[in-house]
Amino acid sequence: MHHHHLSNSYFQKAQELIPGGVNSPVRACKSVGCDPIFIEKGEGCRLYDVDGNQYIDYVCSWGPMIIGHAHPKVRAAIAEALASGTSFGAPTWREVALAQKIVELVPSIEQVRLVNSGTEATMSAIRLARGYTGRKKILKFDGCYHGHADSFLVKAGSGLATLGIPGSPGVPEEIVSNTLAVPFNDLEVLKTVLDREGDEIAAIVVEPVPANMGVVLPREDFLPKLREWTEEKGIVLIFDEVITGFRLAPGGAQEYFQVMPDLTCLGKIIGGGLPVGAYGGKQEIMEKIAPVGPVYQAGTLSGNPLATAAGLATLEVLSRPGFYEVLEERAEALGNGLVEIAGKHGVTCCLQRKGSMMTTFFGQRGPVVDFEAALKSDTDLYARFFRHMLEEGVYLAPSQFEAGFVSMAHGWDVIEETLMDAESVFKNLA
Ligand SMILES: *Cc1c(COP(=O)(O)O)cnc(C)c1O
Repeated sequence: MHHHHLSNSYFQKAQELIPGGVNSPVRACKSVGCDPIFIEKGEGCRLYDVDGNQYIDYVCSWGPMIIGHAHPKVRAAIAEALASGTSFGAPTWREVALAQKIVELVPSIEQVRLVNSGTEATMSAIRLARGYTGRKKILKFDGCYHGHADSFLVKAGSGLATLGIPGSPGVPEEIVSNTLAVPFNDLEVLKTVLDREGDEIAAIVVEPVPANMGVVLPREDFLPKLREWTEEKGIVLIFDEVITGFRLAPGGAQEYFQVMPDLTCLGKIIGGGLPVGAYGGKQEIMEKIAPVGPVYQAGTLSGNPLATAAGLATLEVLSRPGFYEVLEERAEALGNGLVEIAGKHGVTCCLQRKGSMMTTFFGQRGPVVDFEAALKSDTDLYARFFRHMLEEGVYLAPSQFEAGFVSMAHGWDVIEETLMDAESVFKNLA
């Protein structure tokens, strides 16, 4: 039996000083009925908490740690940058190197602007799309999360769903009235909306493989139709690849599905565990950004030396030949193993996976095609699963509506160890 004395006492103190004791709501673990664990360190695929317990980590900082924690190459790159100073507010060569790498890897990006988070990337991308088209409205899909900027806080997936918040106070009606939200994967509804008000829509923004309502797969014609229809209507198509970028392939979901958006938002993996985001796309659109064009967007710490060093080192490791093939094999083995074990013990659940990201929707036979379907999951059963797995030393996302991530640091032995832990947990769940 693990004990969490120190975690609990830190959390007590944290709750006095920080709202809810956490700096991002999903960390609170409320929906799975426990208190958060305070992490002391990470190494490879493992986390160590302040009480000396260790866990196999499938949260991977919610996506960024695709080559594992404290990777020697990333540490060396940060150390090298650190010795030369941490911020100048003037251009540095690493920004150019990272931009070059992004343009090489992501097929639709011709120019890119670095920012400090995924939220900044999506927020800036819609400002750009609005400035470029001269239109006001944007369209998103229910259950997709695009950061916490005002315009996006409409049916925004996990964080809000887990806490049971429909939207957010503090976001003026006038702002969200320009955000249309339609069900993911539903081309009929989308067509109706586009026929009615397509000419007023600046951008459609989509997670090409949603991961913030749990992993949901796009139906085969969904992304191609999005591309076709936005082109017809002069709407900027934005892929929010903050999770799928460098996750599904070096070039993200656009490479994986061979559908090219006009703009792409990146985050998480490109920072290698430090705060970085980016948005990029066609030069014709990107040139509308200041100082070349009139659309304003700026950042004191954007392109920070430490962050770009960590990002560059991470992208170098993951663009080695065979990286994604190996990752796929391990994720597939884990996914298939979990399905087999659940079946054997008669636990009803539906595992959805794309590459190294997956979600097990409890109490569902599936497929889970949209947010409404995801919300039918048995969250109490998920909470029990989460707590038992934690007790076995497996750290999962503290919410049914999130993705689990496999990293290159999850070796075959670790996958096997996880499946053995799952075996005893599923036996108890049934
Ligand atoms: C995490 C995430 C964001 C927001 O990124 P932050 O760095 O947390 O601001 C935006 N879009 C998607 C798809 C994400 O998963």
